[in-house]
Amino acid sequence: MSKRVLIIGSGFAGMWSALGAARVLEEQGRATGHGAIDITLISPEPVLHMRPRLHEKTPSAMTTPLLPLLEAAGVRYIRGHVTHINTQGKNVDATDENGMRFNLSYDKMVLTTGSRLFRPPLPGVGEHTFSIDQIDEACELDVHLARLADRPVSTGRNTVVVVGGGFTGIEIACELPQRLRCILGEDADIKVVVVEQASQIGPDLGAGPRPVIIQALTDLGIECRLGSSVVSVDVNGLFTNKGERIESQTVIWTGGMRASSLTEQVSTERDRLGRLHVARDLRVAGVSDVFAAGDVALALVDDQGNHAMMSCQHAMNMGRYAGHNVAADLLGLPTLPYEQPFYVTCLDLGSWGAVYTEGWDREIKLVGEEAKALKHKINSEWIYPPRPSRTDALASADPARKVVA
Ligand SMILES: Cc1cc2nc3c(=O)[nH]c(=O)nc-3n(C[C@H](O)[C@H](O)[C@H](O)COP(=O)(O)OP(=O)(O)OC[C@H]3O[C@@H](n4cnc5c(N)ncnc54)[C@H](O)[C@@H]3O)c2cc1C
Repeated sequence: MSKRVLIIGSGFAGMWSALGAARVLEEQGRATGHGAIDITLISPEPVLHMRPRLHEKTPSAMTTPLLPLLEAAGVRYIRGHVTHINTQGKNVDATDENGMRFNLSYDKMVLTTGSRLFRPPLPGVGEHTFSIDQIDEACELDVHLARLADRPVSTGRNTVVVVGGGFTGIEIACELPQRLRCILGEDADIKVVVVEQASQIGPDLGAGPRPVIIQALTDLGIECRLGSSVVSVDVNGLFTNKGERIESQTVIWTGGMRASSLTEQVSTERDRLGRLHVARDLRVAGVSDVFAAGDVALALVDDQGNHAMMSCQHAMNMGRYAGHNVAADLLGLPTLPYEQPFYVTCLDLGSWGAVYTEGWDREIKLVGEEAKALKHKINSEWIYPPRPSRTDALASADPARKVVA
């Protein structure tokens, strides 16, 4: 019976893991014929959701099909939602699109099920807030925004509140003035407010890009409530801990990510975001047949103690390494230590432009139109899958390949 590498998830880490594993099998002559190894990828849909683009207009267009690519790379695709992982017995339970349950066994596995937005259990937050975390949620917001034009003019209709002034909150806030004017008219008295509990905007982005972010928010007319946290949300607005009432029919929640809950079934060694502790080769600590990559993995990127962020930038590279290592491990070959010392940030600032930084201290390198052009390149080319040609796909899955350097 052929051996199986199972990859769970078809996001950035999952897609690249599949290609990374296929590349090793090809190199070792184990892709077809006697002794061939089966690479199976399971996810609810054979598409890549372009999550970094969900703050843009028309989020429904932000998917890209994966079947031709996986087929070209010799990866078997199974549509399913994994519900349970049994690391002792080396198998998983899943359900198909009709709710039928099935079981899949594996010899080695890569978990790449990503992350989800975490909403705190505050009154009204679950029922009355939108998000741009997953594609269906971004589409729901898009439809809601479009329909605002049918509602009677009021302060609440014209006001959008973004809760969380981190990376995602800043990106969607900066996108909104232009989007709202398209929907409500150039002369509409629109208002975009960012509510951030920290005393500074972009608390995790550091001091480097902050002046640029503040300038962009000011120029775009976006108001900030710093040091304020939301205590309750209702259909017409919210209250903050300072007792302020903000009338708004559109509250977008952005703060707080959590790794996929499947991580709980793999190991108890997880960080506060639920990410699995992994060794340098991305093997889950204490679980020798399971590797983890992307938003589910707490991985060192260098010898200076920096860890991968929940980011596409890290998920793609981790995927290539995890795929390489899971296949190498199955074949008894040495695994590679994951490393990605070069770190960049490119923050979209809507019609104002963007800001691009390099390094963990986020030193500004490009601002405005130049940074925006780079952001466009990243979001329309670099994060997309390779074309469905076996040669190109396997070549681009080489972990040694420098995408940004
Ligand atoms: C609005 C927004 C903007 C962002 N902007 C940026 C940016 O500018 N730069 C950047 O680097 N990063 C950005 N990110 C972060 C980036 O999108 C994530 O870090 C990245 O998608 C993580 O990749 P992943 O493969 O780990 O997870 P995902 O891309 O989320 O993929 C997870 C996969 O697992 C599947 N899955 C989940 N549960 C199961 C299950 N139970 N069974 C089977 N399959 C399952 C999903 O269907 C999906 O295929 C942004 C994210 C958002 C939401």
